[in-house]
Amino acid sequence: MHQSINNLNIIKSQIIEELKKLNNNEFPKIIAVSKTFPIEKIEPLLDYGHTHFGENKVQEAILKWSNVKSNNENLKLHLVGKLQTNKTKQAIKLFDYIHSLDSIKLANEISKQQKKINKKPKLFIQINIGNEQQKSGINKNELNDFYSVCKELELDVVGLMCLPPLGGDLDNYFSEMKELNNKLNLKELSMGMSDDYLIALRHSSTFVRIGTKIFGSRS
Ligand SMILES: *Cc1c(COP(=O)(O)O)cnc(C)c1O
Repeated sequence: MHQSINNLNIIKSQIIEELKKLNNNEFPKIIAVSKTFPIEKIEPLLDYGHTHFGENKVQEAILKWSNVKSNNENLKLHLVGKLQTNKTKQAIKLFDYIHSLDSIKLANEISKQQKKINKKPKLFIQINIGNEQQKSGINKNELNDFYSVCKELELDVVGLMCLPPLGGDLDNYFSEMKELNNKLNLKELSMGMSDDYLIALRHSSTFVRIGTKIFGSRS
């Protein structure tokens, strides 16, 4: 068996164990974040039937996935990295989910392009949960206003996403995210990566984004 399949199955059984402890039977979607890896390294998981994959660069994703995507209608592609507004149209064409809605400018552009090409991606609003200068994302104090704008623009916002501060109190950040999500009545939560997906599960994450733990370290 290919290593990536083995890794995925280990992650799945850990998740099952954790959910049992939590008395929760909502299994999260596992997004296999395949950025930097060539399609040959991803194929074993595709053949195994895994359906959710994540990338962080639009151009790389188009080269890697366009063919595969048109031949596999079950495949769901997630853009987890920053989206430059000038790549919005291409991104909407390829991706089913965009996890990095982080500005009014981008919201406007998605609204415009999704009408043009008649395809609505599912969106996560990225929250700058640790108020970090260098990170993008909506400030939690501005979330209500931002969300109203998204509604007016007829965006299909399904939930919130975060990249918590390194070394911070994750339980704290994730529970804050969960509260923000509940206040807006949103269903999905995109949080948890290779090092913290089990912690994210304690706060009802519904999409975990896992790269290294599945594919190995990126060079
Ligand atoms: C790369 C990336 C991941 C996956 O990170 P790992 O630590 O390798 O699991 C998750 N989310 C985002 C936004 C990423 O850029």
